[in-house]
This record gives sequence, structure tokens and C-alpha cells, in this order.
Amino acid sequence: MSEEKPICSAKGCRAGAVWVLAWNNPKLHTPERRKTWLACEEHREHLSQFLGVRGFLKDVVPLAEWDADGESAADR
Ligand SMILES: [Zn+2]
Repeated sequence: MSEEKPICSAKGCRAGAVWVLAWNNPKLHTPERRKTWLACEEHREHLSQFLGVRGFLKDVVPLAEWDADGESAADR
């Protein structure tokens, strides 16, 4: 059991993550593969835009719900 708090994936940000951004790069990943980034409230917009303009973004899910799915949010 880890008590580690999930941290925002934005560069230099140490804020606790609130959102999970699920994404897939079709050039690197099979279609069903999901990479995840974590985002705090402040960086959700920035990070989803970054992925969105590249067409990578699949889903933005509240961290609480993502955990309830039993998926690991630690896979970068
Ligand atoms: Zn952040």
C-alpha cells in the first residue's frame, strides 16, 4: 500500500493531481493502449490542449473515478 500522493505531470509542478488524461499516440501505441498523464486543476487545460492538438487525447477523467476503475494512474 502506497501513501504516495499522485502529482501533476506538468513540468515543474508539484501540485496534487485531480485529473487523469488518457491518451494514445497511434505512431507508437496500439489503438487500445492508454498512456496517462496526471493533472492538477491548474494544468488540466494546458495538458489536454497539448495532447488535443496532436490528436492524442482520448479521455479526461477525475482521478477518483479513474482509481475506481482499478486502472493504474502511474503508467506514464
Ligand atoms: Zn499542475
